[in-house]
Amino acid sequence: MIHEGTTDHATTRPVRVAVVGAGPAGIYAADILTKATPTATVDIYDRLPTPYGLIRYGVAPDHPRIKEIITALHQVLDNPRIRFIGNIDYGVDVKPEELDQFYDATVIATGANQDRDLDIPGIDLPGSFGGADFVSWYDGHPDAPRDWPMTAAKVAVIGAGNVAVDIARILAKTADELLETEIPDNVHRHLVTNPVTDVHVFSRRGPGQVKFTPQELRELDESPNVEVIVHPEGIEFDEASLATIRSRRSVKMCVDILQNWAARDSRGRTRRLHLHFLQAPVAILGTDRVTGLRTETQQLTGDGWVRGTGAYTDWDVQAVYRAIGYLSRPVADLPFDPATGTIPHAHGRVLDLDGDPIPGRYVTGWIKRGPVGLIGHTKKDANETIASLLADLPTLPTVTHGDPADVLTHLQRRSLNHTTWAGWQRLDRHEINLGRPHGRKRVKVVPRDEMIGISNTPEPQPDTRA
Ligand code: NAP
Repeated sequence: MIHEGTTDHATTRPVRVAVVGAGPAGIYAADILTKATPTATVDIYDRLPTPYGLIRYGVAPDHPRIKEIITALHQVLDNPRIRFIGNIDYGVDVKPEELDQFYDATVIATGANQDRDLDIPGIDLPGSFGGADFVSWYDGHPDAPRDWPMTAAKVAVIGAGNVAVDIARILAKTADELLETEIPDNVHRHLVTNPVTDVHVFSRRGPGQVKFTPQELRELDESPNVEVIVHPEGIEFDEASLATIRSRRSVKMCVDILQNWAARDSRGRTRRLHLHFLQAPVAILGTDRVTGLRTETQQLTGDGWVRGTGAYTDWDVQAVYRAIGYLSRPVADLPFDPATGTIPHAHGRVLDLDGDPIPGRYVTGWIKRGPVGLIGHTKKDANETIASLLADLPTLPTVTHGDPADVLTHLQRRSLNHTTWAGWQRLDRHEINLGRPHGRKRVKVVPRDEMIGISNTPEPQPDTRA
């Protein structure tokens, strides 16, 4: 842990750092750096016009408790030594070498927001969706389509993680249950037409291997319109499952919840959410659109993993959502490991193809360690990365344009229309005002141009003349 003023790497020279990605990982890195180094100033870039990354565009709208993290991140961005520079795509709008003249170091914190591939027949059929794409849509991401085909009465969700739970819950709940949230109007309009009756969630392994967290699992059962049904056939445990249940409290809690649900009587609700275990997807069925999902029953092999039994089931579904994990995109010209979806690094120092650190390049968050863990875990990452950066400072070349105004002049000269922290606060107020007449906390603005327009247009000041 780095503490203010007590770091081994305390420096008196001005330190200018660019952070790429204004999600929790990038904001935590900026916070740790500015607290550890009184002479540091940080610019946080994002390709979106708004800050907060996956908190704004990844956390489900009916999770206001998690969205509350924004309050703490807001306080960090209020620090005058940290600037938000939105709507700038690093590597596309500005090249890394171009920014090097303004910064001692660059920290990549771009996260992971793409779907991991699932290589099974039929995956490209209409009606087969990436979970990350659906999340982007219901969270009003400006690059997501405005429309979403809501035509399936029976739906499959593949995966047993928290994203699968989010997707299943949003699909199963009624639109009106979500109306009190910040969902954009276009999302609500489509959800109203959702004809869903059955959502089937498939886990390829057993209850002892789920990646759900207990609170998120429990929430599935909180809708008055949705009946959660656990199919008992897959409730099996091997030696490794029992060991995990003994050693990991969260897994034990999930298993207890699932066993409890598997044993209860039907409550006769109109929408059903089924949880199936030991069912691995092998093909999405259909010729010109999804008409089913084929799964193979699995058996546990003693070590917590599974093998196929050769018994197949065809499920009558008209849409399949895969929620099998996120993947980062490569960033600019930096090395990238496509298998793990991460930038190779040593203690946060980006490594070149020979395994040597690239001077002035650092990485933190999901693009450093892969898309696992809860939001708070990125703080530990950021601590390590910033400690490496500060230790390297004496060896990094001094910047040629160290005045913080220089980079803004440069962006202006390049006609790059960036958004700012003050601009975000305007858009924030605007969204809150849109929600107020309807008793909603906010209504998100979705089109990018509209977001930029509102951000970059100062509100008229009240006329204070007598
Ligand atoms: P995840 O937790 O890694 O879960 C991925 C799931 O997909 C696992 O059950 C995995 O099963 C399954 N899977 C992977 N490949 C598969 C395949 N080929 N066929 C069938 N199933 C497959 O990923 P995630 O749900 O995307 O979540 C990412 C991170 O965000 C997690 O840390 C999560 O906790 C966090 N998150 C948190 C919240 C929240 O706190 N409310 C909400 C959303 C996300 P195996 O285990 O068998 O590989």
